[in-house]
Amino acid sequence: MKTPKILIGEGNKVLRAKSEKAGIKKAKEILVEMRRVLKKQEALGLAAPQIGENYRVVMCSIDGRFTAMINPEIMSFSLDTEIKEEGCLSLPDEWGNVERAYSIELEYTNEEEERVKVYLEGWNARVVQHELDHLEGILFTDRMKKKKGILSL
Ligand SMILES: [Zn+2]
Repeated sequence: MKTPKILIGEGNKVLRAKSEKAGIKKAKEILVEMRRVLKKQEALGLAAPQIGENYRVVMCSIDGRFTAMINPEIMSFSLDTEIKEEGCLSLPDEWGNVERAYSIELEYTNEEEERVKVYLEGWNARVVQHELDHLEGILFTDRMKKKKGILSL
C-alpha cells in the first residue's frame, strides 16, 4: 500500500474545509493511513484533513506517545495562555509564535469506542488545539501573532 500524500498550502480546499463526524469504521481506516504517514514524518500530530479526509480524526503526541482521537471536543480552555513556536506538515516552510490556552479539558472516542475525558496542559494541550483547528479548516498561520506584512504601523 502507498503512503498517503500530505496536503500542503494555505489555500488548499480540503485543508480549509470543516470536517464531519467520523463513524468508527471510517475512523479506523483513516487511522491506519495516518499511522503510516507518521512513521515517515517527524511530527507531534496529524489531522485527517492533512491526508485528504475531511473527518474528525486526529493523532496527537501525548507525553511522547501517539494517541488516536475520534470526534474530539474541547470542553473548556484555561484563561492562562502561552506563546510558543509551531510548525505544520502542511505548511513546510512556515514557523511562528502562536498563543494558545495553557490547559484544556478534552473529550474524545478512543479506538476501543470508549468516550474518554482528559485534562491536558503545556505541549500536550497545544498539540491537541493545533490538530483540532485542522478539523475547522484553521491553520496555525491564521493565529500567528506577527504575520508578515501586517506589522507596519
Ligand atoms: Zn498542522
